[in-house]
Amino acid sequence: MSENHALWRAHVLANHILQSPPPPLNIFLTREVCLQYTPPEVNESYGFDVKEMRKLLDRHNLEDRDWLYGIIIQSNLFNRKIRGGGKVFVSPDYNETMEQQREISMKRIMYLLEKGVFQGWLTETSPEAELKKFALYEVCGMYDYSLSAKLGVQFLLWGNAVKLFGTKRHHDKWLKDTEDYLVKGCFAMTELGHGSNVRGIETVTTYDPMTEEFVINTPCESAQKYWIGEAANHATHAIVISQLEINGTNQGIHVFIAQIRDQDGNICPNIRIADCGHKIGINGVDIGRIWFDNLRIPRENLLNSVAHVSSDGNYVSAIKNPDQRFGAFLAPLTSGRVTIAATAIYSAKIGLAVAIRYSLTRRAFSDVANGPEVLLLDYPSHQRRLLPLLAKTYAMSFAANDLKMIYVKRTPEINKEIHVISSGLKAVLTWHNMRTLQECREACGGQGVKTENRVGHLKGDYDGQTTFEGDNNVLMQQVSKALFAEYISCKKRNKPFKGLGLEHMNSPRPVLPTQLTSSALRCSHFQKNAFSIRERDLLERYTSEVEEIQGKGESREFSFLLSHQLYEDLSKAFAEKAILQAVLDAEAKLPIGSTKDVLGIVRSMYALICMEEDPSFLRYGYLSRDNVGDVRREVSKLCGELRPHALALVTSFGIPDAFLGPIAFNWVEANAWSSV
Ligand SMILES: Cc1cc2nc3c(=O)[nH]c(=O)nc-3n(C[C@H](O)[C@H](O)[C@H](O)COP(=O)(O)OP(=O)(O)OC[C@H]3O[C@@H](n4cnc5c(N)ncnc54)[C@H](O)[C@@H]3O)c2cc1C
Repeated sequence: MSENHALWRAHVLANHILQSPPPPLNIFLTREVCLQYTPPEVNESYGFDVKEMRKLLDRHNLEDRDWLYGIIIQSNLFNRKIRGGGKVFVSPDYNETMEQQREISMKRIMYLLEKGVFQGWLTETSPEAELKKFALYEVCGMYDYSLSAKLGVQFLLWGNAVKLFGTKRHHDKWLKDTEDYLVKGCFAMTELGHGSNVRGIETVTTYDPMTEEFVINTPCESAQKYWIGEAANHATHAIVISQLEINGTNQGIHVFIAQIRDQDGNICPNIRIADCGHKIGINGVDIGRIWFDNLRIPRENLLNSVAHVSSDGNYVSAIKNPDQRFGAFLAPLTSGRVTIAATAIYSAKIGLAVAIRYSLTRRAFSDVANGPEVLLLDYPSHQRRLLPLLAKTYAMSFAANDLKMIYVKRTPEINKEIHVISSGLKAVLTWHNMRTLQECREACGGQGVKTENRVGHLKGDYDGQTTFEGDNNVLMQQVSKALFAEYISCKKRNKPFKGLGLEHMNSPRPVLPTQLTSSALRCSHFQKNAFSIRERDLLERYTSEVEEIQGKGESREFSFLLSHQLYEDLSKAFAEKAILQAVLDAEAKLPIGSTKDVLGIVRSMYALICMEEDPSFLRYGYLSRDNVGDVRREVSKLCGELRPHALALVTSFGIPDAFLGPIAFNWVEANAWSSV
């Protein structure tokens, strides 16, 4: 029996067992038995300047990012591994136990502290300092989300709470020590019984004028603080969010500082701490539970920028309205949401860089007899799976950048707007990350399952982002409620819409062409109009449905809940329009040339894939059935046009090779017997 015939027989048998489709023709005819790895750079050329594109994508602090990448790659503390061809990779060692992961995460933080990475993270307040912090934080998250989540607790939750709710005496006492890690903080808001519903928390704090102390108590099991990052092992101090009861009157939630461990790490008296246990990801963060048994803290430990209790026990607050006071207490979560939105996109970039590089070197089946097997990314179906997600990641990257820019230049007047935009983007970007990672994982086949290839593991690590610092569904509800309030306010006062990107509502409703040619579909004017019509119409439908339900005697809150289908559609329409605007703005700033051309294709892909994926366009008739067919065909054409740019587009992410997995490079050598 010839070698070819034997191969053919073996294949037929395997197919029979696996019940897979008939073998492609070349299987028994090809003579090549050994695959050779060819780097994608050999066959793919860059059709635009990848450095220019990276500048657009990273937008700020590129040198600082590269500095930190270098620091991480050079240190053995970051689990450096040399794989086939002498290529260095860094990623956490997931063979370690949960306790080991926590300890090594803390050691890594101490190493970065020594290198000066966190300098100014709390004590410098200029927009430049804040942007640098964002950039360095994003790099940490690309290495390991446990590392950045631990930093997030220390600086964004604990540190920001002290900064925002505290006054000078608190700033002087805590901020520098926090930056130097002499104090390790945690942020104890969520309880077993209440998470999204912060107002419902049951921890109670009373005031004792005799000793001038507050007394914090966990009155029942459902009031135990739950999911508290850094509480299980490392935190010495906690921000405690608690109801404040003064002379029997509940003044609502307030913010206190409590010491929970001494400097030797021993748990303080009147505190009980337990672990939250093993999680689907970020096991390098010590997440714990806390009970307070009438813990006494000094009066100064009330963070008193919003409210104050005098030594004889009188409650004073400049904000009289309890609803507004409650809103003020949730303000620090905004910076967390901005950060989460940005880090989610960097995680999606890792997934796409790995999956696309692999798909440019991995072949499967042949479509012609004796022909070479086809590269995965040359399959139109593979393009359809990855390239729209790549375009969305680009568009969202610009939106995350814009969000950071407005955040660092925030003024009290635009705080509300930042809250709404950051809520919408946090939800949409973290959902996008999860979806992208899943698709990339599958696109890598079995290799996607190996933790060393990063994509699969990122799913577990980043999953919690959809829940913490505002559950995505709850955030989207808030976005629609804010749009509703703006709509009602403008209509009642007969004033024009200003802010939240709603200015288009001041002009007549645009009319979309009935026949959609390829050039019409790619026209930014058409795309903007289509997104504006959707947002406007959904906002009008939502307000009229809520008012109709209210008209039947239901409360406004209950009417909001009953209109949930519309609020879900509306908040998505709002966020997707903001993202489209961000990519349009980025494109507009570019001079005529190849980078602008490619970005135009990316933007059209983003706009059209959103139209294809959201049933609202068809359901409410913004597009006809024929139009929707045109959109679908155009998406396919755009996939073909983005395909030659795929390598350049992921190279422009600027992610060092060491932060990707071995399958992004010579995966044959990395898995050779000599590498075992
Ligand atoms: C890894 C991790 C780390 C965390 N770290 C911290 C920390 O350091 N400090 C801290 O204080 N907290 C922390 N949290 C807690 C986090 O903020 C809460 O989990 C989050 O607020 C959601 O609360 P919950 O888990 O009680 O869910 P719930 O609020 O009970 O929500 C459960 C489900 O109900 C839905 N739901 C809730 N309300 C509504 C509504 N009104 N309408 C429609 N649907 C609704 C939600 O969408 C969700 O799907 C962390 C959580 C995780 C997972």
